Amino acid sequence: MKREDLIAPEQYNVVSEVERFANDSNHTALHWEDDSGNAREITYRKLIKRASKIGNAFLRQGLKKGDKVLVMVPRLIEAYEVYLGALKAGLVVIPSSEMLRAKDLQYRIKHGEVKAVVSYYPYVDQFAEVDGIGQVTKFVVGHESEGWLYLDYLMDQENDYLEIAPTSRDDMAFLSYTSGTTGNPKGVVHTHGWGFAHLRTAAYKWLAIEEGDKVWATAGPGWQKWIWSPFLSVLGTGATGFVYQGKFDPERYLTLLDNHKINVLCCTPTEYRLMAKQDGLDRFDLSHLHSAVSAGEPLNREVIDIFLNHFNVTVRDGYGQTENTLLVGILKGMEVKPGSMGKPTPGNEVAIIDEEGRPLGAGEIGDIAVHLNTPALFKEYYKDPERTKMSYRGDYYLTGDQASMDEDGYFWFEGRSDDIIISSGYTIGPFEVEDALVKHPSVQECAVVASPDEVRGNIVKAFVVLKQNIHVDQDELTRELQQHVKDHTAPYKYPRKIEYLDELPKTTSGKIRRVELRNKEKQSERA
Ligand code: ATP
Ligand code: MG
Repeated sequence: MKREDLIAPEQYNVVSEVERFANDSNHTALHWEDDSGNAREITYRKLIKRASKIGNAFLRQGLKKGDKVLVMVPRLIEAYEVYLGALKAGLVVIPSSEMLRAKDLQYRIKHGEVKAVVSYYPYVDQFAEVDGIGQVTKFVVGHESEGWLYLDYLMDQENDYLEIAPTSRDDMAFLSYTSGTTGNPKGVVHTHGWGFAHLRTAAYKWLAIEEGDKVWATAGPGWQKWIWSPFLSVLGTGATGFVYQGKFDPERYLTLLDNHKINVLCCTPTEYRLMAKQDGLDRFDLSHLHSAVSAGEPLNREVIDIFLNHFNVTVRDGYGQTENTLLVGILKGMEVKPGSMGKPTPGNEVAIIDEEGRPLGAGEIGDIAVHLNTPALFKEYYKDPERTKMSYRGDYYLTGDQASMDEDGYFWFEGRSDDIIISSGYTIGPFEVEDALVKHPSVQECAVVASPDEVRGNIVKAFVVLKQNIHVDQDELTRELQQHVKDHTAPYKYPRKIEYLDELPKTTSGKIRRVELRNKEKQSERA
């Protein structure tokens, strides 16, 4: 696939990718289930009809093409309906996780100049304290709520036909805020044309969705990852999406994969890791699973080995950001080099560059960068030209992550630029150390950061969460873990300090916030 193949026609609306499956009246789009065993299904035809009613209701309430709608609906069929309805009507969606609180909502509603919000009924109280909410049109889903327009009722009054708004490929479709792993979330502008490029990059060769597949992508609405996989990639390929509304529980996930005969799985490294650490994996039959991918954080080798040994499926890594698409990945059929996140995806020009913006050769560590003419790159940070400019170096956009490339073109992740540890002049990526640590049978999770040190500048410090029911002498275990790392990586990388925690600080999307641990180290040095 070439760059040109990722460029959408001039007039293009991403809903057209989904609507083409609505001709067949029996084609199931989504199977939803919750943790009490309640289940619902919807066909593509019904989904599009209901989306059209919602789009009509939005237009009747005075919303216009280009207006921004913040949507806070959890893992329900209604989330798909509302997103499709808004996009169909030419509105822009601001995805919002149900875990966001008043202050997060305030930031998005003001910064994003939100015209309307759609909330699932249990969350409406979060909006009460938002300044200026009086000027915003408020729709509630699932149950009536005082002071809110009841969308379920409004849509019933509407026609189930709505012509797709004639958007251009350069019109904004999503305003997605980043995870906030490193600081304040950034408003990322994505166009309908971005959707075109993303679908062609991620759905077919990475997720490797085949017609008729049942696909479980576990990301929740509100994150860009939800738009990537459960929303665009599933509905844009005519697959059947499995939607599970329930808490993450490794045992339950494995049972669902088995019972529902899931063919394609997309989840986070943490979810894979916790599944892999379950006892008695051979109780589960995952023989229907032909494709399993992971993204969002580095994927440990341990996980790849366990899934291959027990389930005969290779978990394939993929790297990307809210700002772009799947930039680097192990596509189906590609040789896996465990520990490497794969190669640049076809049509996307990804390089490792130096301080001057020149591409580096094999073996050299540098900044992962994306050529500015890449179609799946975001348009800008919303209302923040400074920040947009700061993310450019020459003809490239800087991801803020570092890696090296080997002779075969495989990328090896080092870490976020801010997370890289410089100790006694050595540059150490936290990932390699973490990867070694989690191989140890006592370790559940860990995070490795720089800890200030008078002699060495910094030393490597590991924060470790132990598996349940591990009762050992901690000093002894520390020595054992240090030796374990020395056995698995270059010895100078071993963690000179280890601290045990009950849990690691994480973003609401579940990513480890090393920045918090690093700051803690800095503060304790000053104290
Ligand atoms: P913020 O930009 O607000 O600090 P964030 O960068 O975590 O938050 P996202 O866009 O959700 O927001 O995440 C993208 C980042 O996640 C990447 O820049 C990278 O650091 C990390 N990442 C994603 N996939 C992988 C992967 N396969 N391996 C390693 N790191 C990954
Ligand atoms: Mg980021």
